[in-house]
Amino acid sequence: MNQINASVPLLGFAAFSGTGKTTLLEAMLPKLVERGLRVAVIKHAHHNFDLDEPGKDSYRLRKAGASQMLISSRYRRALISETPTAEATLPYLITQLDQTQLDLILVEGFKTLNFPKIELHRQIINKPWLYQDDINIIAVASDTKAETTLPQISINDIDQLTDFVVQFSRQSQQPQLKVARGDDIPLQGMLSVEQGRQRILTHIKTIDNPQTVELKQALGQIVHTDILSPVNVPQHTNSAMDGYAIRSQDINLNSYTVVGQVLAGHHYPHPLQTGEAVRIMTGAPVPQGADTVIMREQAHQDGDTVTFNLAMGAIKAGQNVRLAGEDLALNHVAVAKGQVITAPELGMVASLGLNEITINTPLRVAIFSTGDEVQAPGEAQRQNCIYDSNRYSLFALLTRLGCEVVDLGIIEDSESVLEATLHQASQQADMILSSGGVSVGDADYIKTVLDKLGHINFWRINMRPGRPLAFGHINDVPFFGLPGNPVAVMVTFLQFVEPAIRKQQGYQNWQPQTYTAIATESLRSRIGRTEYLRGYFNWDANGRLTVKTVGSQGSGILRSMSEANCLIEIPPQQEHAYIGDKVTVIPLDIRL
Ligand code: AMP
Ligand code: MG
Repeated sequence: MNQINASVPLLGFAAFSGTGKTTLLEAMLPKLVERGLRVAVIKHAHHNFDLDEPGKDSYRLRKAGASQMLISSRYRRALISETPTAEATLPYLITQLDQTQLDLILVEGFKTLNFPKIELHRQIINKPWLYQDDINIIAVASDTKAETTLPQISINDIDQLTDFVVQFSRQSQQPQLKVARGDDIPLQGMLSVEQGRQRILTHIKTIDNPQTVELKQALGQIVHTDILSPVNVPQHTNSAMDGYAIRSQDINLNSYTVVGQVLAGHHYPHPLQTGEAVRIMTGAPVPQGADTVIMREQAHQDGDTVTFNLAMGAIKAGQNVRLAGEDLALNHVAVAKGQVITAPELGMVASLGLNEITINTPLRVAIFSTGDEVQAPGEAQRQNCIYDSNRYSLFALLTRLGCEVVDLGIIEDSESVLEATLHQASQQADMILSSGGVSVGDADYIKTVLDKLGHINFWRINMRPGRPLAFGHINDVPFFGLPGNPVAVMVTFLQFVEPAIRKQQGYQNWQPQTYTAIATESLRSRIGRTEYLRGYFNWDANGRLTVKTVGSQGSGILRSMSEANCLIEIPPQQEHAYIGDKVTVIPLDIRL
């Protein structure tokens, strides 16, 4: 594992040389000390340095052959250690510090390792951003704006940077954020749901891969380019009523000569002259020169002469006429890029006479389950085993988003099989999802294999259900290791995977639909944690949207997920919602 375990928060500063890392740390350190933090700095040097001076006792003893020289006085001590072979690793260097006397370790250098870092960036250095490739970057300090949702700080505002660092060290130090019972996952503090989501989104790229398909195949897919109308809808100005068409200039005449009749699908072949009227049916094209229709109920025709009963309504110029193109004008946008094709869009595109749509090629998402206890449904149940439900829930969630699912089945607990599966998945999919195997007590081989194949982070998200989450890339394909518990799988999918898929699909700043509802029972959470409760919302007799929890909230209990129509979200800063309090609900339209 190239993850790093320290018992105090560890924070790096990543930058190209010349950005002024040391100067910045030098300016910030007194402020951190003033705020009560005991800080260590670990700095990586590329060159051969020597702190010792010829002639000093320590120098003489070292040169005489001491491979480690520890010199101590009442004021300070120094260990000077030769590194004859491999350079010391950061985890090893951390063990050399006395962590009992520290609140925070700052690291300069070691930028390829996995631990939280602030990127320092100056425009004048003219180097690329690091956050785009380094998933560990939690904030950007720069003198220019970055295209990211990560927190951004001015590199010249030392106070603001100090605040951020102090807050980071506090958050990572809260007691509930410490490594729990025998946890084998190195932990640098938990992430909030929002932090996790933002980090993920920074590393997800939109895929631009258009494909032209026959109309019905476009159902549920996203339009790649604006669909322009090749015609006017309606094609001609036509009558909205059965009645008589006249010229608006003639409104004030007392009577009109009926010169003909026009039915839907036909037309009157001559321009209308002064004083003339044509009998017209709904949908029939209005004759040239005519622009006003009077309904039949108002008319009295005697031979070729028609008069209108104005007591039933004065005639207004242009009335009862549908203008050519008023629905949709030639070359105007019928369905915009990024819209999803549903029933009305599909009908509308057909109504324009088009038989193809250019869509974003559906994303291919590979899914598999892990765990020796997991069995495929349909088999006779083995002792101590459970049936695989996660692949089926994921299949449903992905299908709803218009994705094509590549189902890789259940992967047995073997390093080589897992490695081969992940490799294969990265060759044929735009995203890879697994469930199980990323939490406390899971066989370590999953983490070993993931670490070997890609750049994967194991996170603990301060949420319930769904604490463990792995995210990274395997051969450039985003990978999510979701928890094993069936409800946690769905909740983490909705919070992390769906936003990532929406971004890959080309939605900009996609947000889940949420509502505010009134709690009809009191709900509990814990400060710092985002709680997702299975709930049922409906409107009460006064038309207020109310919500209550349903069923058991255990993270393995799928039945209460099925009884729910929403998740109730209690944010980290809230500990309770009492009866009558407003809470956020996220509708579960996962049945659509
Ligand atoms: P894990 O995250 O692997 O420790 O799994 C947590 C819990 O979820 C365990 O009780 C597993 O048996 C269960 N679990 C793991 N994978 C699946 C699956 N594919 N379907 C249903 N339950 C699962
Ligand atoms: Mg497991």
